[in-house]
Amino acid sequence: MDHSLSHGMKGLPPPSSSHMGGHDNYSNSNNNNDDDDDDDDDDVAANANIEQEDDLEDEEQLSAASSDVGSSESTSTSSGDDTTWIMWFISLQGNNFYCEVDVDFIQDDFNLTGLSAVVPYYDYALDMILDMDIPLEKLSDEQQELVETAAEVLYGLIHARYILTSRGMQKMYVKYLDVDFGRCPRVYCEGQPVLPVSLSDVPRTYSVNVFCPRCKDLYYPRSSKQCNIDGAYFGTTFAHLCLLLNPEILPCNNNSPYIPRIYGFRINKDSVYHTTTPHS
Ligand SMILES: [Zn+2]
Repeated sequence: MDHSLSHGMKGLPPPSSSHMGGHDNYSNSNNNNDDDDDDDDDDVAANANIEQEDDLEDEEQLSAASSDVGSSESTSTSSGDDTTWIMWFISLQGNNFYCEVDVDFIQDDFNLTGLSAVVPYYDYALDMILDMDIPLEKLSDEQQELVETAAEVLYGLIHARYILTSRGMQKMYVKYLDVDFGRCPRVYCEGQPVLPVSLSDVPRTYSVNVFCPRCKDLYYPRSSKQCNIDGAYFGTTFAHLCLLLNPEILPCNNNSPYIPRIYGFRINKDSVYHTTTPHS
């Protein structure tokens, strides 16, 4: 099964190269392991307290990624292909923020209301997501690429709606417990798991960020590939609704402030160090 697509999202900084580039996706999965591995190493170095735990996660992720690559390669070359487009798409390196949207949800037209006006080649894109046969011979190479990009956009927009349903919320909750969205980089948050969030629900406005429930602030995802994902595919609501519906995962509010010191002494509160607020 040919599950290639082109990535059309123009993300916000930090800038990075597009992670989906047409027909090389399967082979890219191999290379991407190295990339994420580097990111993980940085994270481990910065969070000594969770070093061992992260090592275990890294091994699990690499192991999972390796098996994904293996299965993708085997399914792409064998006749018995049972990998769906959705399974393939969310298994791409950098796409692990997505959960698997139920086919039943996608097949219900009510859930897709309004999306046909937003996504070009809507019918083709929907058929691609649902693994329906598409008469690709009727499309030029350029049009096929547009359909592939449209399928990614459509899946993202459906995903944003799905994760607000009880079933979608539950899937994302499990991913949060598995720390699939990463951890807060702030030292005093001690490796607090984060949730994906956006500053806007409008597509192509902001790239996805992660929200830390402990310091209640936003950060860029640690993987440059995740930084390229459109924030609208996760939306402004999910992270906070998930925390309200699952209050047991709200961390206790022991948000220790960092106290700067010079030679062991606190800096005078009247000094320019404290009185200058360039970001206000
Ligand atoms: Zn934090």
